[in-house]
Amino acid sequence: MNLEQAPLQVVWEMTRASDAVCEECRKQQPPGRHPDELTTAEGFRLIEEVKRFAPPGGSLPALVFTGGDPLQRPDLMQLVQYAIDLGIPAEVNCAHSALLDADAMEDFCRAGVKRIVLRTDMPGAPLAALGVARQMSLDVEMETAIHAGTIPHLDAIAAIAAQAGVKMWTILFPVCVEPGHPESDLRAAEYEEAFETIWRISRDAPFAIRTGNASHYRRFVARKLMESGHVEHPQPAPIASQREAWELAGVNAGRGLVFISHLGDIHPSGDLDLLAGNVRTEPLVEVYRGSSLFRALRDPDTREGKCGDCEYRCVCGGSRARAFAMTGNFLAEDPRCFYHPGPMPHGQRPMERIEMA
Ligand code: SF4
Repeated sequence: MNLEQAPLQVVWEMTRASDAVCEECRKQQPPGRHPDELTTAEGFRLIEEVKRFAPPGGSLPALVFTGGDPLQRPDLMQLVQYAIDLGIPAEVNCAHSALLDADAMEDFCRAGVKRIVLRTDMPGAPLAALGVARQMSLDVEMETAIHAGTIPHLDAIAAIAAQAGVKMWTILFPVCVEPGHPESDLRAAEYEEAFETIWRISRDAPFAIRTGNASHYRRFVARKLMESGHVEHPQPAPIASQREAWELAGVNAGRGLVFISHLGDIHPSGDLDLLAGNVRTEPLVEVYRGSSLFRALRDPDTREGKCGDCEYRCVCGGSRARAFAMTGNFLAEDPRCFYHPGPMPHGQRPMERIEMA
């Protein structure tokens, strides 16, 4: 898939309403649905727009129905079914709430949902839904948001993922939670420690692993692969074979990803709070392909600071959400990356320039 022309994932935040209790959620969830959420009819039109991303016979992006809790919308299954009938792979990112019961899982199975996404942040988190999904042979992705307190538990959480038979473990790194807060963004050195653990787990894990807001994990992976002689240069891998493992595909906010808010606003990702348009007034396909924001995000040569000088900018490029949150400049270098690009002395490999504290 050509990421200039189409994303791999369109993420639609159908509603922010949720009954789930989530101490680590990135957004404060209001108790009820917003009166100006996209309507069912507007949802149908959005789904038809997603269909327009692919040429006839070409592959389509996955459409992720998320929230809040998408089960708060009574039209969820109607919209999911419409997407599937149009050939769009549908995924549902569910909150752990009373609405996520065996009936809801059965509905997902019957409709042909490609994957459900369930959040598990700590070993003691509610796991009943994982068991039910496994019984029904639903393809499950597990999401885990991590902070410094989570890192010691990564092996235990990975064991849960293996036991539950998940296909993908997505590890979400927070973007600039206030300094001193226990769930704050990791320091650059802590990222390297987390990456070492994630890499070790990934070698034997029966599931794929990807990171959110930590594209520099791809630099870490590229270094490991170069050291082992598997790749010679840090270049993006062919997308077609890397759908499940984004490690080297260079997917980032606005490059392979687009986020639609509950009000229809078009953002490069759910954590990059920059607006490129609204699906009520602008065609999603044209905004993704042609807006100056999305084009700048897809061009690795627009990066500034050390990300602009970095030989890993095509596979990594840094977290644009973190750069924007911490500096106000979405093209600035990622402040949470330890790597320092520079002239490479003869015989030295890129990773050797990383300064470990
Ligand atoms: S300097 Fe920037 S592009 Fe290079 S590895 Fe770090 S975050 Fe990625």
